[in-house]
Formats: sequence, structure tokens, C-alpha cells
Amino acid sequence: MWVRMRFDIGWSDIAYGIACTGRPLDRRRLEWEIRHYWSMAEQIFPCLSVRTGFDLFWAAVGLPAGTEVMMTALTIPDMPRIVAHHGLTPVPVDVDPATMAPRREMLEKALSPRTRAIVVAHLFGIIIPMEPILDFARQHGLLVLEDCAQGFLCRGYEGHPESDVVMFSFGPIKTATALGGAVLRVRDPQLLRRMQDRHSQYPRQPRHTYLKRLFKYAVLKAACSRPICDVVIATCRMADWDHDQIISNAARGFPGPGFFQRIRCQPSDPLLAMLVRRLWNYPEQRLQERIGRGHYLVQLLPGDLERPGSRAKTHSYWVFPILAEEPPAVIAALARAGFDATSRSSLRLVPPPENRPELDPLLSRAILNRLVFLPFCLELPARALRQMAEVLAGMTSQLCRQPLEEMLGAGWSPIHA
Ligand SMILES: *Cc1c(COP(=O)(O)O)cnc(C)c1O
Repeated sequence: MWVRMRFDIGWSDIAYGIACTGRPLDRRRLEWEIRHYWSMAEQIFPCLSVRTGFDLFWAAVGLPAGTEVMMTALTIPDMPRIVAHHGLTPVPVDVDPATMAPRREMLEKALSPRTRAIVVAHLFGIIIPMEPILDFARQHGLLVLEDCAQGFLCRGYEGHPESDVVMFSFGPIKTATALGGAVLRVRDPQLLRRMQDRHSQYPRQPRHTYLKRLFKYAVLKAACSRPICDVVIATCRMADWDHDQIISNAARGFPGPGFFQRIRCQPSDPLLAMLVRRLWNYPEQRLQERIGRGHYLVQLLPGDLERPGSRAKTHSYWVFPILAEEPPAVIAALARAGFDATSRSSLRLVPPPENRPELDPLLSRAILNRLVFLPFCLELPARALRQMAEVLAGMTSQLCRQPLEEMLGAGWSPIHA
């Protein structure tokens, strides 16, 4: 079985992390090295997670309660949750399935006199063009936040220089993971200072917490490697456990109660040391190979098979989603051929405010309901990709083979829907 879950970290990195938990480290030096990886070093703010930095941002800007925050409609549910926690109202903005970017009319539809900010999530490894969104934001005086948690491209993309905040995650399932940690870029120096002041009041993550994390992911990494994963999957089957569910739960960042208490922590020194190592040593050519692999798989797939972001200009294939009319049937067919696809993802829809049901993001909903993630990683040989494409070529009505908007009905328009 080719499992889809891979942790983008080597055994030597994990060993390095473990060694770091037992020796003195120069925190200032580590933070300096993280900052100076990026070209706008003075704007860089390392923290425990994207959610930590995102929460700090809203606390520091202090927008009045009831202010609306536009958010591209697909993201992890903690993001709108954090916005709402600050007394603000998340408002979904639908996206064009072909580009995964909001179109102008979608932005306009979600705007109201109370809107003060827009949060854009770059999903799946796609980087959507920010210029049109920044144009719109300038016209309406909005703050612009870019969520690049799924779009780390080494120095290939540092966010648009004019965006107010840009966020990168190094959580367990992300590219170049440090098994935690995040980097924010904050353009306004005063705002950055306020965030840092607040951050300095947070308790520091204990070293042993990070050590436990390193061991946990060492076990998971081993469990996902061939041939161990065959044994794991067979065991799960016999015990009637859902291996997919187990993997997804294990990869979740801050499960359980006390969410805000958990994210409001400073990273430990060893986590910062790991972040330095991952940033400065990550082989950029690994990304290039991943992109090459992605293009190769695209060419193998049936030409009319719908994929989210199929017309996106920048795609690094952090994951490889396709759209299916019957996801369970597609997943079952792939499993029979030895491929572990899934439709499970951590993405959810940003719900529309109760008094604006017309903002239900229909296209994003249609995407979410049809997502199938193919197993896709550099370790998968080209032969396996060809085999996977053959299985898909043999399927017809189970797959989505027509643009979503056409399928949702003629005359459909995001404005009048
Ligand atoms: C992973 C992810 C986050 C959260 O990142 P953390 O560093 O784990 O808080 C936010 N947004 C998106 C789109 C993500 O994929």
C-alpha cells in the first residue's frame, strides 16, 4: 500500500532535535537566524504555530466588536474560530475552483461597510495571485493577511510585500516541518512590537513537551513507512479500526480542551533550533522535484478530470487533490490497486453570518464535498503514478469530468445563487 501520509522530516533531523533538548541553546541567536533566513528580516516573528500568531494579531490590532473579517471560504476551522473569539465576524468569500482564488464579484459580494480585513488561504501548495486582492483591499481600506501554511516554497515565496501579515507553518504535516513552530511576517513595525510585547508574557513551552513530540512523530513516521505501514494497515483492519481516522487525529495540532491556553505559549529553545535547521538546510531541489512530479501526474491523468486549482499558475503540489462525484467509490478502487487515497481533510467551510445566508460559499462547498487526495510524494515511483492514473482513467461517472460551475447548473452565478 502507498500511504498518503508522509512527514517531511528526516531521521537525522529528529535525532538533532532530541540532542537539542539536552543542551544549552542561545535563544537570541536562534531567533536572529530564523529572521535572517527571510529577506525582510526585521518584519519576521517566529512563534509556536500559525494559530498562535493569528490570535496575537487580532489581540494587537484591537478592532471593534462586530467588525467583519472576510476569509476565503475553505480553511482549517480554528482560523474562523480565532477570529470569532476576538468578537469579530468571519465572513466567507467563495473561490473559483479552477484557480482557487476569489473572483472580483465574490469579493464584492462578501464586502459590507463593517469589513476591515481579508484573510486569504493559499491551499494545497497553490499560491494565488495577490495583486487583484490587494487592489480590492486598497480600495476599501482592508488589512490583508496571507495564510501560507500549505504554501512554503523556501525563499521562492515570502508573501506579497504589501500584505500586512504573511504566515508560514512548520507543523507536523507541513513542508519542511519542524514538528511545530511558525513564522509570521508583519509589515507594520508598531503592530509587530505590540504582538511581541504580548507574546513575551506567554509561558514558554517546556523542553520536555517538545521532546515528547519528537518521539511521537518518530513513531508515526516509522508507522507510515513501507513496509511497516502494510502491517499497521492490516492490524487496523483486523481490529476494525479506521487507519485513516487514526492518522488524521495523530496529525492534528492542538486537540482537546483548553485550545487558547495551548496556543498561547512561546516556543521552546529546541523547537527554535529545529526551525533554524529546517529553514537553512531544506533542500530546495526537493521542492523542484515535487513540482516536476506533480506536472508529470497531471499529464498522466485523463484530460477532462477536474482538479481544484487546475488553472493555477503556481502550484507546488503539497498535496494532490482531484474532484470526484463519488469519492468513496474512487477511494475504494484506488485502495484495491494499492493506493491510499482519502477524502478526509482538515479543511472546513467558513460559515456565513446568520443574517447573511446568501453568502453560503456554494463553490467551496461543492469542492469540499468532492475532494479526493491522491497519495503523492517523492518516494512514489513514476511507475506507481502511471498505475494510479490508469485506475482513474478506467473510471467515468464516479469522477468529476466537467467544470463544477457547469455541473451546478446553467445560469448559475455566484451573485444570484
Ligand atoms: C496547518 C494550517 C494552519 C495552522 O498552522 P499551525 O502552525 O498548525 O497553527 C492554518 N491554515 C492552514 C490552511 C493550514 O493548512
